[in-house]
Amino acid sequence: MTQDERTAQPTARSEELFDQAQRIIPGGVNSPVRAFGSVGGTPRFMASASGPWLTDVDGNRYVDLVGSWGPMILGHAHPDVVAAVQAAAERGFSFGTPSGGEVELAAEIVARVEPVEQVRLVNSGTEATMSAIRLARGFTGRDAIVKFAGCYHGHVDALLASAGSGVATFALPDSAGVPRSSAGETIVLPYNDLAAVEEVFAARGHEIAAVITEAAPGNMGLVPPLPGFTEGLRRVTREHGALLISDEVMTGFRCSPAGFYGLEGPYAAGPADLFTFGKVMGGGFPAAAFGGRAEVMALLAPAGPVYQAGTLSGNPVASAAGLATLRACTPDVYDRLGVVSRAVADGVADALGAAGVPHTIQWAGSMFSVFFRDGAVRNYDEAKAQDTDAFRRFFHAMLDHGVHLPPSAFECWFVSAAHDDEAVSAVLEALPAAARAAA
Ligand code: PLP
Repeated sequence: MTQDERTAQPTARSEELFDQAQRIIPGGVNSPVRAFGSVGGTPRFMASASGPWLTDVDGNRYVDLVGSWGPMILGHAHPDVVAAVQAAAERGFSFGTPSGGEVELAAEIVARVEPVEQVRLVNSGTEATMSAIRLARGFTGRDAIVKFAGCYHGHVDALLASAGSGVATFALPDSAGVPRSSAGETIVLPYNDLAAVEEVFAARGHEIAAVITEAAPGNMGLVPPLPGFTEGLRRVTREHGALLISDEVMTGFRCSPAGFYGLEGPYAAGPADLFTFGKVMGGGFPAAAFGGRAEVMALLAPAGPVYQAGTLSGNPVASAAGLATLRACTPDVYDRLGVVSRAVADGVADALGAAGVPHTIQWAGSMFSVFFRDGAVRNYDEAKAQDTDAFRRFFHAMLDHGVHLPPSAFECWFVSAAHDDEAVSAVLEALPAAARAAA
């Protein structure tokens, strides 16, 4: 395929579907970031996916660096997962009773993440963090929670507060429709600023039920914890009788077989009390979980007073997909993720460097993101200080050359173990022209 052919992709069918979708689905999408809002243009409607490739409804093929925003660690339609899903579906879709598959998936999670003694399965990362917060409030009898600006934990009312208001300042609602009373119990602090956390706990520690943090934040781009930061959170929360919730929805089972915990934990002051998981553990199906110390989990209904439930929770087909995915995540898979990530990131650095485009690449295990600015990024304010217009030009040039990046400068790039040499080469070939477009 010549470069001219690549840049002249047909998009008529995507445009037609987007027009229709916008009439009947708000914004034309069922999750906002899919709408190309910050990069402009028509989102590509996908028809199928296999391994590292996406094929859209106009017949264009792309190397996929979105990976469904994290779950597709094995690539699309991995044969083991397809077989497990087909077999489970033939046995029935949902029973509304306990079933063996959910026990197997729970056992796999508990075996991998040592501090997780018990786990409850839910349908989305949002449900997992919402339930973990409720449980922490039930356990401590306190209402306030601390979260960090730039961390995303799903669209839970209390967790949508992320505006970088000052230390110890209660956030205003970040989304219309979030009651002040709900966001008002959320204290938003700058990430990687332990002094700010200590100050808030000194003033109001007796009111705070929990600190929730992404294990290694990936929702403002990848901003890993500075040495000692998470350890400090563990120490301060313990001193004040608050819980620490480690959100591993994105990092779980991706950064290592035991997620980011497997890379950095346990801290000298101990592990987090509660963990949340999603994405990889569902293998592309709606499955997520929260879990932790048995003493805390014991408060959940039916045994305890903290209510939490779900018609489809522990769904047998989703559980089979998640279990097959986790079981297929052999050491070779993690090795391949490392090799692919490094090859792509090195290619990006070379191309942007040659074109004179300021950039910084940050890592958590094999997870990475590219900031269009120079210098280390330690918090949300620094993440926001990047050239999003350069990213927009880069994004579209990559798309035109057959590489689908996340359509936002604030997202991780997700590779899979199915990204073979052909897919990696296709990315590397697209980079120089995209870097020139960004310059
Ligand atoms: N927590 C983190 C760290 C996430 O990255 C996400 C989603 O991107 C969520 C929670 C919410 O998960 P879901 O979109 O499945 O509700």
